[in-house]
Amino acid sequence: MSSYAPPVQRLVTELSKLPGVGTRTAQRLAFHVLRASDEDAFALADALREVKERIGLCEICYNLTDEARCRICQDTRRDHGLICVVEEPGDVIPMERTHEYSGVYHVLGGALSPIDGIDPEDLKIAELYARVQQSDTQPIREIVLATNPTTTGEATALHIAHELRERAPELTVTRLASGLPVGSDLEYADEVTLGKAFAGRRSL
Ligand SMILES: [Zn+2]
Repeated sequence: MSSYAPPVQRLVTELSKLPGVGTRTAQRLAFHVLRASDEDAFALADALREVKERIGLCEICYNLTDEARCRICQDTRRDHGLICVVEEPGDVIPMERTHEYSGVYHVLGGALSPIDGIDPEDLKIAELYARVQQSDTQPIREIVLATNPTTTGEATALHIAHELRERAPELTVTRLASGLPVGSDLEYADEVTLGKAFAGRRSL
């Protein structure tokens, strides 16, 4: 099919696997890399290799980290009795930008979506329950469910809230206030809106 030399085709194929990158964009990016200096192209290759080799998941909250525990979990000034549950590591950043939140996080690694075959076992949900139940150092007072205001995000929040009520009835479980654009990702919310949504969180 392709008239590119196999190494070029390989690069186009790999680039087109990236989200939002179609074949035409992949081709454009590939030509850009070919035109770039060796230094720039190898820096990109090294950066890709380095994140995959050095970045893993925090053993407590499953956020991205280059250590066993992420910086937020290691920070003793933060409120370890308050856990904000988000879908993806990228959702931690906008929450941090609000400067309203001083608790810790729990990153699920996605949202429940039976249609796509994403069940509770595919997410770090059991790990959240374990965390709530074995809080030896500081008891957990509140779980803020900050999954996205989408169908799957809402379903995930309701599922977790229901399970937590059974497992830990004394725990306060809240959900970010509405006001976030429905159907959008937390990742794209501005910090003012998100800060207000956090301040106005309601009990579930
Ligand atoms: Zn962590």
